[in-house]
Amino acid sequence: MSDRKRILTGDRPTGKLHLGHYIGSHRHRLALQDQYECFFLIADLHMLTTKPDKESILAIADNARTIVMDHLAIGIDPAKVTFYLQSAVHEVYELQLLLSSLITVERLQQLPTIKDMAAAAGMEQIPYNLLGYPVLQSADILMPRAHLVPVGKDNESHVELSRQIARRFNNAYDEVFPLPDPYVIGGTLVGTDGQAKMSKSLNNAIFLSDDAKTVERKVMSMYTDPNRIRADIPGTVEGNPVFIYHDTFNPDKAEVEDLKERYRSGQVGDVEVKEKLARALNDFLDPMRERRDYYASQTGFVDELLFNGTQRARDEGRATLIAVKKAMGLTGVWNRISRAAEKRAKKELSA
Ligand code: ATP
Ligand code: MG
Repeated sequence: MSDRKRILTGDRPTGKLHLGHYIGSHRHRLALQDQYECFFLIADLHMLTTKPDKESILAIADNARTIVMDHLAIGIDPAKVTFYLQSAVHEVYELQLLLSSLITVERLQQLPTIKDMAAAAGMEQIPYNLLGYPVLQSADILMPRAHLVPVGKDNESHVELSRQIARRFNNAYDEVFPLPDPYVIGGTLVGTDGQAKMSKSLNNAIFLSDDAKTVERKVMSMYTDPNRIRADIPGTVEGNPVFIYHDTFNPDKAEVEDLKERYRSGQVGDVEVKEKLARALNDFLDPMRERRDYYASQTGFVDELLFNGTQRARDEGRATLIAVKKAMGLTGVWNRISRAAEKRAKKELSA
């Protein structure tokens, strides 16, 4: 076993990854994979909190494959990461139940994220599993005994809760869990519409798997300064999504500065700005396309990776559950009963 510290993070299998995911989260995973032993879960049980319909469930397998492939395309090393399907690790469900006495309903109700998620999903009332979502998340984190949990600012409070649960467990029973630390990552990327953050359901996303033509088309129809109806009108650079993307993805800083200056003084057309952006984005995505092609040429690679990772996660889950039940004394209870039953069975046999 590796003596590197462990990371736990993951994604709900609801679709393809886009540039917003990359900026907010996945680029950090890339940076962390060399220092930590990584567990990346496909959080399908978490998907059920807001999307329990059959259609979403039937889409899990394909979405799980897509997400794993997106990671490989980004440059995540399959040898360094354990990808696993949450719903196939039954030990997580058990652990969630065993941890649930360590936290109160009031504490969960106070988390702003739960209400926000319910509202975002158009739910008037909070289902039991949505309220318990941070407890399941704690089970996810404590199952591989993770030390570090990369999360966005909005999820920091959930890792604090996991830490509280771990501390309470260790105090009440026995030292089983390291106390997980949140590692706040982030960055938000606006969508191509300039109106909201990039989201797959808002039709304002550029996906990591988009081909060059699609990227060009999306960039050419991007929202820019609406007051600039002609190229010779001075434009606003600040808050303009085209320039936000240039700043984020175009490594040629001199080109970006030149474009900004000419934009501000009305000496460049939107078309040139956008063509240069499309090229920068395609340059950025090209290595991802190459890696995607490489892994796609190895038929079944992603399925095998997810399968082996899930087996590995189950081994971890089993080991953790054994430690948990032993610490709680549950193993002892069962042992006493089964030993007594065995004894009686033997007696009956010899009588
Ligand atoms: P949906 O439209 O279904 O809400 P989405 O594209 O917004 O999908 P989510 O599944 O909601 O994606 O996002 C998962 C996580 O990805 C978020 O918690 C956040 O960390 C990150 N993320 C998503 N969109 C962005 C973005 N535009 N900028 C930065 N981070 C993002
Ligand atoms: Mg979203």
